[in-house]
Amino acid sequence: MTLRALGFWRSERAPELPDPVPLVDDEWDEEERWLVAMYLDQGQLGREFMGFSRCRICHCVNGNAERMDDEFLWPSGLSHYVSDHSVKLPAEFISHVLHRLDAMEEGDFDFTWWKEQAYQA
Ligand SMILES: [Zn+2]
Repeated sequence: MTLRALGFWRSERAPELPDPVPLVDDEWDEEERWLVAMYLDQGQLGREFMGFSRCRICHCVNGNAERMDDEFLWPSGLSHYVSDHSVKLPAEFISHVLHRLDAMEEGDFDFTWWKEQAYQA
């Protein structure tokens, strides 16, 4: 399955990608923003690179890796844009994150496989 990439910003090498500045939304609900940033930081670590990326807004050093879940791939520094600059991500991704967090919260897990394993204490 091909992961959908998000949070990769315009650069000289990729002028077709979005610029984060117009996506800054200071009205974005703080709790939702915090949840999204936390989710981004907890993504599975993917590739790591030699060079660090710099924030396109404040120019701080901002990550050198990629993170992912089973649907999306993002740069490890994306949470910085969300938490420090309120760069609002697409609504579809926000609802994906909130849905995943709700599912964890509800503890709706399938224990069938685990119970069937041969472990006998
Ligand atoms: Zn920044």
